[in-house]
Amino acid sequence: MSEILTPDICVVGAGSAGLTVAAAAAAFGVSVVLVEKDRMGGDCLNTGCVPSKALIAAARHVQMIGEAERFGVMAGKPEVDFAAVLAHVQEVIAAIEPNDSAERFTGLGVAVLRGSARFKDKRTIVVGPTEIRARRFVIATGSRPATPPIPNLETVPYLTNETVFDLPRRPAHLVVIGGGPIGLELAQAFRRLGSEVTVLEAARILSKDDPELVALLLENLRSEGVDIREGAKVARVARRGRAGVRVTLTEGEASRYVDGTHVLLATGRRPDIEDLRLAEAEIDFDDNGIKVDQRFRTRNRNIYAIGDVSGGPQFTHWSAYQAGLVVRSILFRFGGRAKPELLPWVTFTDPELAHVGLTEEEARRRYGSVVVLRWPFSENDRAQTERTTRGLVKILATRHGRILGVDILCRNAGELLAPFALAISAGLTVKSLATAVFPYPTLAEAARRAAITFYSPKLSSPWVRRAIHFLRRLG
Ligand SMILES: Cc1cc2nc3c(=O)[nH]c(=O)nc-3n(C[C@H](O)[C@H](O)[C@H](O)COP(=O)(O)OP(=O)(O)OC[C@H]3O[C@@H](n4cnc5c(N)ncnc54)[C@H](O)[C@@H]3O)c2cc1C
Repeated sequence: MSEILTPDICVVGAGSAGLTVAAAAAAFGVSVVLVEKDRMGGDCLNTGCVPSKALIAAARHVQMIGEAERFGVMAGKPEVDFAAVLAHVQEVIAAIEPNDSAERFTGLGVAVLRGSARFKDKRTIVVGPTEIRARRFVIATGSRPATPPIPNLETVPYLTNETVFDLPRRPAHLVVIGGGPIGLELAQAFRRLGSEVTVLEAARILSKDDPELVALLLENLRSEGVDIREGAKVARVARRGRAGVRVTLTEGEASRYVDGTHVLLATGRRPDIEDLRLAEAEIDFDDNGIKVDQRFRTRNRNIYAIGDVSGGPQFTHWSAYQAGLVVRSILFRFGGRAKPELLPWVTFTDPELAHVGLTEEEARRRYGSVVVLRWPFSENDRAQTERTTRGLVKILATRHGRILGVDILCRNAGELLAPFALAISAGLTVKSLATAVFPYPTLAEAARRAAITFYSPKLSSPWVRRAIHFLRRLG
């Protein structure tokens, strides 16, 4: 016999978005049912952010040992035990897992249901023998790796983010299809861990980021031996020998090929909606995801969709931000709209590439003329001591100095970005940066030095010239 549950909120999907809604709503004493068909924690914990950053951390150790000689430290050639690296990745997942576990959420007062959810009608979700009739539903079912329409793809054993962290052995030659953040982060990590790596990107790598900083990063990745080919369209793939893959590229009339041992697809994501039977609930969707208004409501006003499944930017922190807005909207009716200009993102290569606010192109489109302030890390004392001088801080501001956007390329740029996320959200000006006192020597000082350059044109003003003239006359 079927059981019927009638919570205030039913959340489908226990990834970053769904867990945030469930925890926040339960904290307000609201009854919540959370449905998860696979692993608690979703993509971020199990197959996304956490394993990729743990792999990157291992790869960075290899790099630092390699660089140690420049500091007078003779560490020898690093040896990589690939199985131990992947064990480290799993240990990190296990360390974070309890935060996202069913036990923790049950303890918070959330009823956790394991199974695949599907709509029965506009007001009911079915999970196995259980029916859930909630006041509000929040769909947070995330995304899965997209498989591009490459002829023959189904005949070769390709990897995705769902399988790459379980490899039994280090790939001898990894061919990464897709030069976005995921593809490049993994490409550099595998290269540092000892694989030969080729990245094939049909257009330009990191097309959403600042081209000047991307060019510097590209140079850096290539200098480490990552073979990155832009404008490289894949025509087909085929097995080669017993354990190889041949990836053939289209280049006008001629074609070239890359022979590798493994292929990793990093060609974007598709919404995970197949199981949901959205039409039963009168919810609109397309290939990008569930269609929502600015407050994340679907066409069915009692049902919200957030996170990767709602088709916007795909980041854990963006999912959590949307979750906060939706909880406020459901509980207090003042959720507000998402503000895309607040969204920061980081590509966790080394150096990292971090961005918040408007891009230069967006800023010029919206404001006409903008001021671009730069400070290179070659002019930063801490970067010199650490010997990580590649990269720069770039700040975009209005003529009156309001900070519109920031791009940073340097080691740990993601950490330097946080105050800028605050500056943009609070509408601060470059003056507040320029007049603040920053500790010496830190990489963060580069941000203040960039802000100070806002005033350099003013040194040619008649008032400043008169003051200098006056001082000189005083001797
Ligand atoms: C390799 C990689 C690295 C990344 N690195 C970063 C990073 O460094 N920083 C960052 O901000 N973002 C990163 N991301 C993106 C980030 O992982 C996602 O944006 C985030 O996980 C999306 O969260 P979500 O809750 O929308 O979906 P998910 O985390 O995918 O959760 C959705 C959950 O819903 C469940 N589900 C699906 N259908 C059903 C159903 N019918 N019934 C019940 N349950 C269902 C799924 O099993 C899943 O657990 C990365 C992604 C990848 C792939």
